[in-house]
Amino acid sequence: MPRKNLALEVALVVLALLGAFIVQAVISQTKPPRMPELGGQEKGGGEEQTVVASETLVVENSEDQNHAIPAAFSKHLSSLGTIPDWSVLDNYQYTVTKSDFVRLMTDVYSVGDYWKEWFKVEDDHVMVRMSAEDETKEYKLSFMNEVVEAKAKRYWRAKKEIEIPEGTKPLLGVRIAIDPGHIGGDFASVEQRRFVLNEATPPIQEGNMTLIVAEQLVDQLEMLGAQVTLVRSSNQPVNPFRPEDYYAYAKSKLQVFKSAVTEASVKREAQKLFYRNGEIRERARIINEQIRPDIVLCLHFNADPQPDPLNPILIENEHFHMILNGAYTKSEMAHDDERFKCLLKVVQGNHEEEAKLAAAAAKSLAEATGLAAYQYAPNSSRAVNVAGNPYLWGRNLIANRLFDCPVLYYEPYLMNGKDSFERMQVGDYEGLRFINGKLRFSIYREYVQAVTRGLVDYYSAAEKAEVPAEAEDDSALSLEEESDMLGIK
Ligand SMILES: [Zn+2]
Repeated sequence: MPRKNLALEVALVVLALLGAFIVQAVISQTKPPRMPELGGQEKGGGEEQTVVASETLVVENSEDQNHAIPAAFSKHLSSLGTIPDWSVLDNYQYTVTKSDFVRLMTDVYSVGDYWKEWFKVEDDHVMVRMSAEDETKEYKLSFMNEVVEAKAKRYWRAKKEIEIPEGTKPLLGVRIAIDPGHIGGDFASVEQRRFVLNEATPPIQEGNMTLIVAEQLVDQLEMLGAQVTLVRSSNQPVNPFRPEDYYAYAKSKLQVFKSAVTEASVKREAQKLFYRNGEIRERARIINEQIRPDIVLCLHFNADPQPDPLNPILIENEHFHMILNGAYTKSEMAHDDERFKCLLKVVQGNHEEEAKLAAAAAKSLAEATGLAAYQYAPNSSRAVNVAGNPYLWGRNLIANRLFDCPVLYYEPYLMNGKDSFERMQVGDYEGLRFINGKLRFSIYREYVQAVTRGLVDYYSAAEKAEVPAEAEDDSALSLEEESDMLGIK
């Protein structure tokens, strides 16, 4: 090759690289900064001091993802719930054995024997009450047996149903939906996910932070071969409705509960219906009808209740846990739509996959963050521990119930925790910084790396994971040991 041409080629390559560099520089300039939107600086006095309630947003609700708002509240359904289509279960005849059914209902999905008021277990089938109002309406579900065995027809795939060839990207083809918890932005106050310590420090808004984590996770997981979809990509609701649209329904709900119906009480109830039930129902509709993923990652930051909401303080002992679907309360089990969803989870084999995924996910998060396991009260009526793993708890949150696939619901870091608050104030950054006496990654990147690592660990582990009796015991032990080391029990 003539020397002149070579020089020309080299010059062209240099030019191309320079061009790419400039384009990259422009992109990074124009990309929105990955810092939490710190909201308005208005000094609203008492209102402004919105104190984050415990993450345990009370859940009493849901089913079925309709666009329309029901005309009126029914005491036999969850909030905004509609009468379920029980014929859906025709697809799940002979998919669960009697022993698995009884075990799951007893150990995972309820906290007591009250489920038996609704499910009559016979030798080869169970009769399920379809309607709280009419006891003659029953659905017969036949159990799997030695002769008849059917496979559940569901949209999501368990790990053993996804073929990831060895030597390829570790999450190749895994369909992942990411649900950044809450809305954030202008809605952070109304959804009570905004923490203000004092006037000198900017507010912390959960919905903004979960979106930062989610956006970074998309890049990370796609690089590893996953097909990733964000359920929310701005600090705007996914829900097409607004609080005003729920006024009539809110009023009917207050009337059923014989609560005072005032302008203020209707408004407050409508707001809750909007950001909690309505918003999550809409996300469920998108997940179940459009995305149909193998798993959903629900990203959250936790917060502890304040001893005195008017004088917020930072809390010393932070914690972490993950929530799986389970622990339907007595009143939730009495709702026709919730009972239906519970049964759907059982016949889809949801818990088995969710528990294995969550064990790997929790191990990774605990190692990366050093956070202690959150402990619910031993006699809690709305939480059950899962498989003795201190980080895993079954609860009937709306998202866990309505997303028809395994859900990994993360609750690390306290927005009003001493250490995390400081890190949240610093925001996102590359590399390491010295914060609170330690070299740390940004709280967002630590979260992203830990979630990624847990998923890769799970999907790339050999499929001995079928009965990981020993492996599971080991990991549970090491987590407990770690808690001991941290001085938590
Ligand atoms: Zn949250």
